[in-house]
Amino acid sequence: MSAQDNEDLIDYEDEQDAIADGVPQNGSADKDKKFSGIHSTGFRDFLLKPELLRAISDLGFEHPSEVQQECIPQAVLGMDVLCQAKSGHGKTAVFVLATLQQVEPVNGEVSVLVMCHTRELAFQIKNEYARFSKYMPDIRIGVFYGGTPVQKDIDLLRDKTTCPHIVVATPGRLNALTRDKYLQPKNVKHFVLDECDKMLEQLDMRRDVQEIFRVTPHHKQVMMFSATLSKDIRVTCKKFMTNPLEIFVDDETKLTLHGLQQHYIQLEEAAKNRKLNDLLDNLEFNQVVIFVKSVARANELDKLLKECNFPSICIHSGLQQDERISRYKQFKNFEKRILVATDIFGRGIDVERVNIVINYDSSSDADSYLHRVGRAGRFGTKGLAITFVSSDADREILNQIQARFEVKVSELPTTIDPSSYMTS
Ligand code: ADP
Ligand code: MG
Repeated sequence: MSAQDNEDLIDYEDEQDAIADGVPQNGSADKDKKFSGIHSTGFRDFLLKPELLRAISDLGFEHPSEVQQECIPQAVLGMDVLCQAKSGHGKTAVFVLATLQQVEPVNGEVSVLVMCHTRELAFQIKNEYARFSKYMPDIRIGVFYGGTPVQKDIDLLRDKTTCPHIVVATPGRLNALTRDKYLQPKNVKHFVLDECDKMLEQLDMRRDVQEIFRVTPHHKQVMMFSATLSKDIRVTCKKFMTNPLEIFVDDETKLTLHGLQQHYIQLEEAAKNRKLNDLLDNLEFNQVVIFVKSVARANELDKLLKECNFPSICIHSGLQQDERISRYKQFKNFEKRILVATDIFGRGIDVERVNIVINYDSSSDADSYLHRVGRAGRFGTKGLAITFVSSDADREILNQIQARFEVKVSELPTTIDPSSYMTS
């Protein structure tokens, strides 16, 4: 069996959150406060390299978000950071800017490792690095994940002139490359986990992360990020860190997004398709993500939507990896407006135009609900989340969500003003 085949056995994705850890995170500062440069702190105040400031300005980022204001000053100094802040509030830029600011590229040396739980997210983070390092031509960024030929990664790492300085990866492939000594961990100075709770709660991923962590130098900067960080998982995270700066931007119970309207529809399982059709016909949307609980259901529903002439596409772990990335790109580039997805798309993925999330199948727990609906209403935009409730278990989860996040998820009204969920 080739290394690749082996690795295909390890696919963390599509798993329902097995560990129902329950407990809450923090909730929120007023959304309006966030981006409008509360105290008129600007990116300039972070004393970033001019190359970075130029890229930031090209991207049209005017003011740092609250989480960026809280974290970047310390993160660029090399401090360990444990950070929890709502979905869509710009956590990525914290570690991307902090590491680009500090990295000193040496040929053949990997100095930054960034890990996350899905391949599409790794791909997305690599693209964020590319955007922010636009004026840093000496810096090479690589992305490694399973489901692709490992030889390509090996070739890239072996050649000093192509070896990336910054590696973004999923833990399975990264651990394989490190264990087999293709990736030399001894020069790593920054170790980042995005969606850290997910990475450390799921045991197979946690084992990979720990093995990689152990072979990197003792002295390094460790940074971890998520929208959801229960008390228990914080303790686990801090085992990897020394005196971290702990940033909890949002109050425990107020993690739901301000511009996001949330409703449910009570219906029989058999009535779901009809209802979905109805919604897609009658709601206004730029892009919609529809979450289902399994690969088979994703395929089926996508097929059905296509038969009804909806511009639909689906994404799940049953696809070949290049196909997965290609579909991610099609959706991100607005070539498709409806995405049927399993939970692999439930966290971290940032598609600006998504303004509606439909939980066709209820999420497995309150945390994953929060991440799913956070695909809409990103960075201060408006959105609408609709959850189908068809069983006692679904109802129970809905109750947990409302209890945990102090949000009222009410029944979907018969009419709903599009201006309430469409950013003009
Ligand atoms: P999170 O990881 O917190 O869920 P992301 O890092 O994915 O959020 O950011 C969400 C979106 O907000 C991205 O499209 C990103 O480009 C955008 N963004 C981040 N910071 C800023 C900023 N300061 N100004 C404008 N847009 C921003
Ligand atoms: Mg993120």
